[in-house]
Order: sequence, then structure tokens, then C-alpha cells
Amino acid sequence: MSTDLEKNIKDIKKLLNSYENEALPHYINGSKLLSKSNEFFENFSPIDNEIIGSVASGGSEDINDACNAASGAFDEWKSISGKERKKLLHKIADGIEDRAREIALVESYDSGQAIRFMSKAAIRSATNFRFFADMAPNARDGKSLPADEHLNYSIRQPIGPVGVITPWNTPFMLTTWKIAPALASGCTVVHKPAEWSPLSSMILADITKEAGLPDGVLNVVHGFGETAGKSLTENEKIKAIAFVGESSTGSKIMKQGADSLKRVHFELGGKNPVIVFDDADLDKALDATVFMIFSLNGERCTSSSRLLVQESIKDEFINKLCDRIAKLKVGHPLDPDTEIGPLIHEKHKQKVLNYFALAQKEGATIKAGGKEMTLNSNGNYVEPTLFTDVSNDMRVAQEEIFGPVLSAITFKNEAEALEIANDTDFGLAAYVWTNDAGRSLRLSHQLDAGMIWINSENNRHLPSPFGGMKASGIGRDGGDYSFDFYMETKNICSAFGSHKVPRLGK
Ligand code: NAD
Repeated sequence: MSTDLEKNIKDIKKLLNSYENEALPHYINGSKLLSKSNEFFENFSPIDNEIIGSVASGGSEDINDACNAASGAFDEWKSISGKERKKLLHKIADGIEDRAREIALVESYDSGQAIRFMSKAAIRSATNFRFFADMAPNARDGKSLPADEHLNYSIRQPIGPVGVITPWNTPFMLTTWKIAPALASGCTVVHKPAEWSPLSSMILADITKEAGLPDGVLNVVHGFGETAGKSLTENEKIKAIAFVGESSTGSKIMKQGADSLKRVHFELGGKNPVIVFDDADLDKALDATVFMIFSLNGERCTSSSRLLVQESIKDEFINKLCDRIAKLKVGHPLDPDTEIGPLIHEKHKQKVLNYFALAQKEGATIKAGGKEMTLNSNGNYVEPTLFTDVSNDMRVAQEEIFGPVLSAITFKNEAEALEIANDTDFGLAAYVWTNDAGRSLRLSHQLDAGMIWINSENNRHLPSPFGGMKASGIGRDGGDYSFDFYMETKNICSAFGSHKVPRLGK
């Protein structure tokens, strides 16, 4: 065991012992509380499936309390000036930076994501807060739309208390990506974290409290999707739901929120193609392909899980890919050398293993990996895996596996690449590798995906729109797009005094 890993393990144990509560509590109206029902669930570590601790399991009563708190705090919070909100959100960002190592260790231990990525994700979370903090003073700005005899101008105002429901992959980063713009807009929040990775949400609650965020502005209720999550989506006080998770859950949430006419924003699943043409910079394309499917354990919505490789370079590219896969470092997530950690949960590992069996049944070849790994522990490790001889109609090419598993499909020319790429229910991201500029632009316009990266891996620019088409989502995040979701646009029309008002009943 390396000394760095030893130190990280020692530090995480110390941290967990320092969290004094008998169970991970909710955070409602500024107080840490257990569930009214006194129910709990157990949180397991992906590293060895040992219990990390108990978590308060929220039900509709706890959700009601949290929604009432968010509703009660809304008037005051929305009335605070944008400048004040900016200051407070920067203080929260300071708090995140101060505790970045703690956040990275906890996140890595709780979710199985490698510490090398979680350290960066913690810092990115502070950046999320700073970015939206700086936008807060102008969030309400609208447009000036003069007509002949009237001045129309629009302003935006916060929609009200909102629900934020997050998944278990990079939970802290995703949570801040949602909560920072909500708070910057002037909304209050009830957050329901994923039940498989609940720990880091409490660190954020602590940081906001220390930064001076008024009680009730951010509330956190733990629990299962079918109970706590469902209650949140049905609560009348909640005006909008920002949800990140599976497409099928998005569909349920839409139904659950229908009676109260909830506005929804969905960031859902993907089966994103990386299209590699024979004229591309193949070394870079290889780096990007490996990075985009094997980083974050492949538990990443924008992972390039379908490799579309041109027939003329197939053998060369696949051979190089196999060499790289063989060298990937699978290991303890707290080891700084680790590139792939254990999958989040035993059930998820089983789901991924089932796809290994299915690939063979469907006639694909397991060219690399394809087995579970023990690594001297009872953790949820699987081998980084490559399927070849895949056709796009196979389930391994159509369904989101959400693990370190790449399905390779060949194509002959641009037209066929486009057809295969678009032949999916999903439409989140697509990656195009070619040195033909015209082709890259033609494809970018024709690909049915919300985000296209040309000759690049997923590089995020926070003002740019993030989100998917088709079953991959509804709405966009990022910059001003986030404010469009968390705010109502109001038009104000004022007459110059020169027009005639129609006169009835003369
Ligand atoms: P999930 O849909 O199972 O759960 C997500 C959250 O929804 C959890 O907090 C869960 O408790 C809650 N939930 C479940 N059922 C609910 C219900 N009926 N009502 C209200 N809430 C409910 O997803 P997951 O397995 O945690 O996460 C993985 C999925 O997230 C993948 O499909 C991945 O692609 C997607 N994801 C998408 C993006 C994106 O930006 N598009 C980013 C990250 C993850």
C-alpha cells in the first residue's frame, strides 16, 4: 500500500469519526434533524461493501417540513439584493475551497470515484458557486423591446422554492451545479441527494450555514426516490424540479409533478457516440476515447460509450485501444494512482456484469476485460471492458450501461457514421474526430445531440448550454440558461400616451 493511500485512508476514518451525529441527519430550516418516523437506511462503501453509517430516511412529513421552510424563507431571500447574494455565494465558494480535501476524500470513499478526479471536482464545485455568484446581480435583467406606441421591457424574478434531485455520480459537483444558480436567482431549495452517496450533501449544508446563508434557504432531506423524492415532486409549495438522473425516473417525475404543474428541468442518460474518422489525429482521438469512457468509472452521463470507428483504421485503433485498456489502473479510489475505482453499489455492479453476459449472447466479442475483479476486497470492481463486433441494434449499443464499458461499431463513410450515431433514443453528447473541417461542421449540424465536441473530449465552458435532446433531457444549464429555468420572465408594457384605447359601449 502506497504511503499516500495509507494517509488518505487514515484521514477519511478520522473525518468519519469526527461527524458526531448518530446518523446522517436531514438539514431543515437550519437544523440537523432525524426523520419524524425515526426511520433510517444504511449507506455502504463501494470499496468493501462495509457499512459507512446510517442515514435518516425521509418521508413526506420531513419533505413537508423542508418545503414549508423553503417557502417561509423565500420572500426574504428573493428580496436580498443581487450584490448581497453575490457576496454570500462567494463565501460559500471560499468554504468549499477550504474543505476541498475533505470533500474529495468523502466523495471518493462514498461513491468509489478515484480521488484524482474528485479532488478536481471539489474545486470545480467552488468554481460553480463563484461563476453564478458573479452573475447574481444581473440575473433579473431582461430585454428592452420597444414597439410603436409602447415600451415593452422584460425582467426576471425567481420562480419560488425549488426541488433539486441529484444522482450518485460526482454528487457534490452536480449538486453545486444546480444549487448555485438557484440561490443566485433568489430561489430557495429543498435538495434530495441520491441514497447511494448521501455524505457530501451535509458538508455543503454545513458550509452554507457557516457562510451565513439564512435558515430555510437550503434544506436537505435524505431518503429514497419513491418516497422522499416523490413527495418533493408532488409538493404544492415547490414550483420547479431540477432533476439529474435516469430517463425513466425523469418520466416518473413529470407524471408526479403534473397535478401541481411543476416546471421541470431534466438532465438524463446518454449513449454518446465518439466518431473517429481515418483522417483524424488518431493519438489524440485515442486519448480522448479512453478518457471519456474510463474516467469517473464510466459512471458519467457524457461518457463516450459508443465508439464509431471508420473501417479503414479499425484494426489499428482497436489494437491501440486494447493496449491502453490493459494498462488502466483499477484500484482503491483513495489511491492517487488509481484511474478506475469500484462501482457505486453492488446492485449496479451486477447490472454491469449482466451486460458482459448479454454482449456475448448478442454476438459481440469481448475484446478486453469482461469480468468482475476482487482486488483483495469485497468491493464493486469490474474490469475496464471493450466490446467489438457490435452492431447498433444490439442492446449493448442502445442501453446506457453506466460503467467502464465501451461498445465499438465500425462505419464506412460519413453518411453511415451519421445514421448510426443518430440511431438511438438518447441525444446528450457526440464527439467527432476528423481533420476535415467541413465534415466536422456538417456532422455537428446533423447530429441529434445537445452538445457536440469536435476534436475534443468533454471540455466545459460554464456559460455554454449543457443538456440533451430526445431521452437525454429537457432544458439547458449553464450561464444564463440556468436563470431561464429558475426564474419567471415578466413583460412590462407601458404606453407612450399617444395610442387610442378601443372604446366600447359609447
Ligand atoms: P436515478 O434516476 O435512479 O436517481 C436519481 C435521483 O432521483 C436519486 O436521488 C433518486 O433517489 C431520485 N428518484 C428516484 N426515483 C424517483 C421518483 N420516483 N421521484 C423522485 N425522485 C426519484 O439515477 P441514478 O442511478 O442515481 O444516476 C444515474 C443516471 O443519472 C444515469 O442515467 C446518468 O446518465 C444520469 N446523469 C445524467 C447527467 C446529465 O447531465 N445528463 C449527469 C449525471 C447523471
